[in-house]
Amino acid sequence: MENLQSIVDEIHHALLPRLGEGKVADYIPQLAHINPKKFGIAVTDVDGVVAKAGDCDEPFSIQSISKVFTLTLALGKHGENVWKRVGREPSGSAFNSIVQLEHEEGKPRNPFINAGAIAVSDLVLAGHTPREAIGEIVRFVQYLADDDGIAIDPAVAKSEAATGYRNIALANFMRGFGKLDHPVDHVLGVYFHHCALAMTCTQLAHSGLFLAAAGRNPLTGHTVVSRQRARRINALMLTCGHYDGSGDFAYRVGLPGKSGVGGGILAVAPGKASIAVWSPGLNHNGNSLVGSLALEMLAHRTGWSVFGP
Ligand code: GLU
Repeated sequence: MENLQSIVDEIHHALLPRLGEGKVADYIPQLAHINPKKFGIAVTDVDGVVAKAGDCDEPFSIQSISKVFTLTLALGKHGENVWKRVGREPSGSAFNSIVQLEHEEGKPRNPFINAGAIAVSDLVLAGHTPREAIGEIVRFVQYLADDDGIAIDPAVAKSEAATGYRNIALANFMRGFGKLDHPVDHVLGVYFHHCALAMTCTQLAHSGLFLAAAGRNPLTGHTVVSRQRARRINALMLTCGHYDGSGDFAYRVGLPGKSGVGGGILAVAPGKASIAVWSPGLNHNGNSLVGSLALEMLAHRTGWSVFGP
């Protein structure tokens, strides 16, 4: 394979004319102010080689990408019991949809749609106050990325709490079915705050490295999860990481990935690398338009795909 940095530079250059395409999420008022022309990419391979370009060192709101980290934490605390509260099937519905919850008596289809991540926040909260749980999540992400500088953007958390009517509805609906153990405002406090984590592409690519390297972060030597658990989290990212666009992302990119409405995507090339992209304009499924294109180009140029070289 050609030098990784030249591939990343080439992708960055090729996509510059497309910046500004797509629609920046504005249902969280604080996100609406982001410059739509931002674009960053960072790739960290399992040997620790980093290739990056563009706005890769500017923090952005990782939003739903944080759901990968909270799921990992919840699995660490509760093991397979997590699956009593949340399923493992793609939803085929929008990220904030409530329709399937009624049919499944308040049990969300998977941990990456909003309802599922709210259920996971409830599990992370077990035995903690909301403040402790939020602190635990932040420290976990800092540990994964090996970077103490990672923090929550309080303005984004506040903005989302003030306007998160649909998430409030989802949480109340689940609580009505007895599927949340803690008060709705506590659970949502945890959820809104972890969605408001601000990270750079470089930090995000580092934090996903354990998923690319069989559960162990090769940069720090820390074993984060077992090999099997890393494989399973990757499976969920592949099947459920892009909401109702998950099939299309698998088809075009062929890698496990998790997107967020802030325009970020974390993708994992198992055995190869962890990749983070950021570009705020979203496609009609709520996934970064230019970010998806960048990953499609990267997979094509490197041959990285879980479906074959
Ligand atoms: N915090 C966002 C919400 O609950 C997350 C959605 C996303 O990133 O897809 O609406």
